[in-house]
Amino acid sequence: MTRYSAWSVIKNGFSGQKNWGRAWRDPEPKSGYDIVIVGGGLHGLATAYYLAKNHGLKKIAVVEKGWLGGGNGGRNTTIVRSNYMMPGNRFFYEHSLKLWEQLSHELNYNVMFSQRAHISLLHSPAARDAAARRYNTMRLTGTDAEIWDLETLKREVPHLNYQNARFPIIGAAVQKRAGTARHDAVAWGYARAADQLGVDILQNCEVTGVRRENGKVISLQTSRGDITAGKVGFAVAGNTSRLWQMAELGKLPIESHKLQAFVSEPLKPLLDQVVVFGVGGAHFYISQSDKGGMVFGGDLDWYKSYAQRGNLPLVQDVCEAATSILPCLGRVRLLRHWAGVMDMSMDGSPFICKTPLENLYLNAGWNYGGFKASPASGWYFADLIANDRPDPVVEGFNLQRFANGVNIDERGAGPDPKLHG
Ligand SMILES: Cc1cc2nc3c(=O)[nH]c(=O)nc-3n(C[C@H](O)[C@H](O)[C@H](O)COP(=O)(O)OP(=O)(O)OC[C@H]3O[C@@H](n4cnc5c(N)ncnc54)[C@H](O)[C@@H]3O)c2cc1C
Repeated sequence: MTRYSAWSVIKNGFSGQKNWGRAWRDPEPKSGYDIVIVGGGLHGLATAYYLAKNHGLKKIAVVEKGWLGGGNGGRNTTIVRSNYMMPGNRFFYEHSLKLWEQLSHELNYNVMFSQRAHISLLHSPAARDAAARRYNTMRLTGTDAEIWDLETLKREVPHLNYQNARFPIIGAAVQKRAGTARHDAVAWGYARAADQLGVDILQNCEVTGVRRENGKVISLQTSRGDITAGKVGFAVAGNTSRLWQMAELGKLPIESHKLQAFVSEPLKPLLDQVVVFGVGGAHFYISQSDKGGMVFGGDLDWYKSYAQRGNLPLVQDVCEAATSILPCLGRVRLLRHWAGVMDMSMDGSPFICKTPLENLYLNAGWNYGGFKASPASGWYFADLIANDRPDPVVEGFNLQRFANGVNIDERGAGPDPKLHG
């Protein structure tokens, strides 16, 4: 496999770019593996990579029903941040951000991580007080965080609606190390690096059934034949309940909801940061891609389905939020919009945990926020599968927390679209 470097770019330039090797193999499924990860999204691929890299494990496969990154991994608005307060999230997301900072080097693949600052607009003194508490906690626990007054915000982001906004802007809570990355490059980077460590990546391989015996999974039925597995990890995001039912495990505290993303026609440089607007039922976030398109999104769609496309009422809702906060977008044309199927948990927090079956492990419940989590999610899920116990950082990410009353996220918003404002 070619190692990407300035030298390999120059060398391949001389041969008309014709000699690049394929990025990862396309193997036939073997009859069995020690570990099978179901789901070739970011979390599944990252898990396979860290199982091989951090734990030296072999005979690992990732089975993906479609193509890599065809799920939420390649559909999100790519915001990466670690601005959480409560211990359950604080250390997990900060670890993830630190992994992001080294990811392109780690994978020898440019994931285009751009630390351009995440700016949450503040609209009332009460909101500023709450943000100050959260951002001070972040500073005290080793993360960068700032509160900007209105003058600073106007200087840094001049195009916002400062004149006649329905909810006047009074300042912002800012994390400068936060930013965006190129989502499909993350999938390809993890796939390539995992493949180099011997992981079989099996695309067009849908799991259609789970065979169990004596409280263990013994094999997976797939569209490319049966595969026996020593250990199995589910990392299928919006399809988690379906897989859970195949394993005959009953109900999960997860609902599948659609979330849309939008891209405008390319514009000249307009916005150099990620800006988030959430007040009075509005929920809106926006950044500008390297190609110039404005990339933005808002709430979940108001009704559920497994279709990866959204509905017009939400398009109107999001465009209203866009023009209310950035009126200069009023005459910009929308280029594309699409949806992903989100795994919304009932308290808005994820699962990285064991299950009632001895050798089955669960990675799910990422809601809106699983892109930024993907490196740490893969890191800690691999650790759980390898050592059969959770690291203390993710100890609370289990299914028992609803019975034990453990609160991981300060808001605990769950699957209700309007609670995520
Ligand atoms: C529009 C949108 C915007 C978002 N914006 C952000 C953001 O700005 N920041 C952020 O942090 N997060 C964001 N997210 C959330 C984030 O994208 C997800 O939480 C995260 O990608 C989920 O993990 P994943 O990549 O592994 O999921 P996926 O990419 O969905 O991976 C799951 C994979 O499992 C496969 N699969 C399902 N069933 C089977 C089966 N039976 N057999 C085999 N394979 C199967 C699917 O095909 C899929 O490829 C957003 C999501 C969406 C949809």
